[in-house]
Amino acid sequence: MMGPSHALSGSAAWLAGSWALDQFANVSQSPLEVAVGTAICAGGALLPDLDLSGKVTKNQGGATVARTFGVASLFVAEVVEKFSLGVYTATKLSRDPRRNNGHRTFTHTIPFCLLIGWGTTTLASKYGEWAVVGIVFFMAGLALRGLFDKWAERAGWVIVTLASALIAWFTAANLDGNRGYPLLGMAVGVGCFVHILGDMITKNGVPILWPIPIKRRMWMMIGIPNKMAVKVGGKVEVVILRTVFTAISLLSIAGLFIPSLLEKLNLDVWASK
Ligand SMILES: [Zn+2]
Repeated sequence: MMGPSHALSGSAAWLAGSWALDQFANVSQSPLEVAVGTAICAGGALLPDLDLSGKVTKNQGGATVARTFGVASLFVAEVVEKFSLGVYTATKLSRDPRRNNGHRTFTHTIPFCLLIGWGTTTLASKYGEWAVVGIVFFMAGLALRGLFDKWAERAGWVIVTLASALIAWFTAANLDGNRGYPLLGMAVGVGCFVHILGDMITKNGVPILWPIPIKRRMWMMIGIPNKMAVKVGGKVEVVILRTVFTAISLLSIAGLFIPSLLEKLNLDVWASK
């Protein structure tokens, strides 16, 4: 799937999960927590494609995520891709094919999701608000690029950067550490996992079982059969999937906030009687 679809799937998953927790497990979140989790999860759902590098010297190519902060993130993508290729080559078994590009390897595995989630929470709890500013700045930048791709293009990188900075500052100033910091890591990790699931319905699949060896392969690519696979950037993705993700997001927001809003209005009516 393309960047915007991944980002939308991340926000849909987080909002639907928040609604389900609220409804069935009595876990309620403040509007700020829901908003921050959704933005981070949308950004996290772009993160695995940071292994899709372009041409740094020519400032070309790369995934949405690799282009978020211009040449700087394109360079990071180059490093991530080479690192992933290194992990692939170091852990490949005799029947895994030789590769010369790291795309859809290490960053598309469950250990990566766990690692990045744990790392995010650890950073936030250890270094507090400054780490939160950094994390949210980066992830909100990704989310804005992914969710509002047309706007981001028109607005340009200065506006997107300023908007991300504002969101980061506001979040760090208002997010409660005890609940908020684990929430950050969880949102990044869930976002990455949702990205991997999204790639599973496209051609080629992902090595989701790594590092479990199967038939002398460590990097078995797993996904739905190529015949049924969703074409990247095709009608099914751009029209159907995006509409479904948007509908899930909006319904979840309604389910999360309309009941308490009605309650409030009711109380106000009662109070004024
Ligand atoms: Zn991917």
